[in-house]
Amino acid sequence: MQITDRPLRLESHFPDEVIPYNIIRLEEERILYEYDRHLHQRFRDTRTFEVLGFYRPFHYHRSDFPWGIYVYRGSPKVIAHEMIQAGSITNEPVIFDELLRPALNSILLHEKYHHAIEAAVTPFLISQNNGNSLRYDSYLALQNLYFNSPMYREFEEKSCNSFVARNRFELDFIPRMHGSSLPSSVDVGPAIRDFMKTQPPGYCDFDATLSNTETAKELLRFLNVKIQPTLVKSMAKAMSQALKRNIPKYIITSPPTNME
Ligand SMILES: [Zn+2]
Repeated sequence: MQITDRPLRLESHFPDEVIPYNIIRLEEERILYEYDRHLHQRFRDTRTFEVLGFYRPFHYHRSDFPWGIYVYRGSPKVIAHEMIQAGSITNEPVIFDELLRPALNSILLHEKYHHAIEAAVTPFLISQNNGNSLRYDSYLALQNLYFNSPMYREFEEKSCNSFVARNRFELDFIPRMHGSSLPSSVDVGPAIRDFMKTQPPGYCDFDATLSNTETAKELLRFLNVKIQPTLVKSMAKAMSQALKRNIPKYIITSPPTNME
């Protein structure tokens, strides 16, 4: 009698706090799962990185919507799935979860290059204004091109994917239950590149040899500014500094409400 009583007594000890909490958690998970599924559907419509995450430029920083890289929670899963679909992963001894980190890194690197482009035109703009005023005309001009000129937009997305293509993507091997002889490192870069080839024009036209200097020159061409070697050099330097910067990152489950 005493033995069977015991679990009952224990249960009555913590009744309400535990159970409703679990129910709420499950409900949250269900909603999040639905959102992730929805995210994959939305991705299939346009196949752009911008559906999975986006860069909030520092020019538009606001305390209620800070600058940085925003990534939707389900995005690494979407890319991992797409990498498998693209085919080149099938020969590797890889399990799904091990693809999540390289998948996340591909989004972060893509969005980081949008930051580098913003940084590229910032010193140029300061020199245009003789350092007297911090007007952001050059970047605004680029943003204007981004939204109104498909040719510029394709160039910017191509630059971002070229930067992704220049990186190596090593798997983090998750310790497995059964010992198996796995290679110490597997580069899933080819699978990321195959995935990017399934993206729209611009994104899929990446070239792993495109340098920061070439990108800077191209930016000046689009801005109709004379290409001066010192200016190009300072832009390329600003870009390499931007790429080393630790940018604020946010994992989100839905678009920010105050997004504009
Ligand atoms: Zn992009």
